[in-house]
Amino acid sequence: MENHVVIIGSGPAGLTAALYAGRSKLNPLLVRGELPGGLLATTDSVENFPGFPEEVGGVELALRMEEQAARFGARFLETMITRVDLSRQPFRLTTSEGEQIAAQTLIIAIGASPRKLGIPGEEEFTNRGVHYCANCDGIAFEGKRLVAIGGGNSALDEGLFLTRYVSELVLVHRRNELRADPILQERALANPKMRFLFNTTVRSIEGDEVVTGVRLMDLHSGQEEFLPTDGVFIYIGHEPNTALFRGQLDLDPAGYIRADISTRTSVPGVFAAGDVADPRYRQAITAAGDGCRAAMEAARFLADLPAKALV
Ligand code: NAP
Repeated sequence: MENHVVIIGSGPAGLTAALYAGRSKLNPLLVRGELPGGLLATTDSVENFPGFPEEVGGVELALRMEEQAARFGARFLETMITRVDLSRQPFRLTTSEGEQIAAQTLIIAIGASPRKLGIPGEEEFTNRGVHYCANCDGIAFEGKRLVAIGGGNSALDEGLFLTRYVSELVLVHRRNELRADPILQERALANPKMRFLFNTTVRSIEGDEVVTGVRLMDLHSGQEEFLPTDGVFIYIGHEPNTALFRGQLDLDPAGYIRADISTRTSVPGVFAAGDVADPRYRQAITAAGDGCRAAMEAARFLADLPAKALV
């Protein structure tokens, strides 16, 4: 069966696109993907989504968005898309079970994934002391010592969350200035469990069965030292999940989908919303705004197709 609108990705961009496409009576199909709720679901509390003055849990916000989209007819499919063919209409998508999905319009909202540091020990100890999500894995470190790497909002936000569990959190940042929002900097610098090592990088992660420490380098003196720790949480930015589209859509040099202000990509009928096309803002609210625009553009695109092309 051909779908008017297929959305891939279930973060705020995909769920808002599903809501708007549903309200346009387009019966959208949303493919949930690997991480239902997207990165939003890995966020403990969201303080900057308008309408929630008391803050709201990331999972709760994603579930509410999903409920709202379902109310207007959005359909949800639990699978991964492993292949896409955007060379002709309708577009063809292949699921991990080998099923084919046909789409007259496609909204890509598959976000971005945490960037890897690429240092010795990172891969070896992933999930054995190397982690990328405090909300998912922090609870295992009750009373332990941790290192967090990065100086942006994610490092500080998630670092602050980790201080609920740990005895000490050492934040290692490569510069002497944090990039995070001032309000997060204030909270982190005032937190008695957080210690900061500036102008420092982690050269390697060491351990046996699990992580036992990190090798640090002071970028001014070049001096190295071993810091014992029970785990390392890495927050050095994100990489867009665009491998599926390489060679089929225009991407920028960092791999983000090139989309215009109306979310239109280089292929007519294909729209990109949220972090997959946004290296700059990357907020739940901007992703939701993109999802809205993408669904409205998809509706316009469908309205302009010859009537017989619509099923
Ligand atoms: P980010 O803002 O790009 O920060 C990445 C941090 O990692 C920077 O401090 C950067 O250092 C450092 N870094 C990058 N590559 C590195 C490397 N190879 N080695 C060591 N350090 C490295 O990424 P983010 O913190 O994930 O945030 C991404 C977006 O999500 C932002 O727009 C942010 O506002 C948003 N976000 C918002 C919230 C919130 O509002 N509460 C929470 C989380 C994320 P430099 O500073 O030296 O470049």
